[in-house]
Amino acid sequence: MSKWTAIVAAFLVAAMSVSGVLAEEYLSGIEWAEPAVIDPGGPDKAPSDAVVLFDGKDLSAWEGGEKWTVADGAITAGPGTLRSKDQFGDCQVHIEWAAASEVKGDGQGRSNSGVFLMGTYEVQVLDSYENKTYFDGQCGAIYKQHPPLVNACRKPGEWQSYDIIWTCPRFDGEGKLVGPAFITVLHNGVVIQNHFQLEGDTPFNRPPSYKPHPDKGPITLQYHGNPVRFRNIWVREVKEVEHKRVSEPQIVKH
Ligand code: MG
Repeated sequence: MSKWTAIVAAFLVAAMSVSGVLAEEYLSGIEWAEPAVIDPGGPDKAPSDAVVLFDGKDLSAWEGGEKWTVADGAITAGPGTLRSKDQFGDCQVHIEWAAASEVKGDGQGRSNSGVFLMGTYEVQVLDSYENKTYFDGQCGAIYKQHPPLVNACRKPGEWQSYDIIWTCPRFDGEGKLVGPAFITVLHNGVVIQNHFQLEGDTPFNRPPSYKPHPDKGPITLQYHGNPVRFRNIWVREVKEVEHKRVSEPQIVKH
């Protein structure tokens, strides 16, 4: 092959490749099941694969709420801890809440509540609109571990949302931690916790620590003496798409 023939041949191969006539494709070698088809819902409608914990009607999906009340499509916190009957592991939680319209108290005393994953790990609920407190205890904090990245609070009385993506901790057969918990939280659509790795539970009076617990646990809502309201609560189990490796990764030519 002359020099010029080689140049022309290389040019043609390149041109065919760019035009898609001769292409290389990467194949992972993993066979994926088809992702489930769901209806994603809308502002006031849960996704079709969600467990609806409160749709404005009653507390039938909960226990411990004898002194919590329902009116005008919303729950108002009362004495005792409200605990979902269903239990969840890795999950996505949507919950809307509103601080009391009538501003009372300050710091931790103003519309304090909390959304607890597995009944143990608290995302703080607090009226942090023009209300200072310690930063790892303000609204959207992973209580006593990590402040929110920004303060995205709306005014008292206005509805706000949390969208929480929870990866639960893993324990082995002996109860030893083999995988920590991670949490991502959007507050009113804004990222305030970005895949934060938890150090353990979230108590007030001692350092966080992990204690073994079952693979699933309830969502619980805290009563801290304030009439915080909640509505539109749903949870989706988060699980990997089924798959298996059927071959090594390869590049095929078309
Ligand atoms: Mg709290």
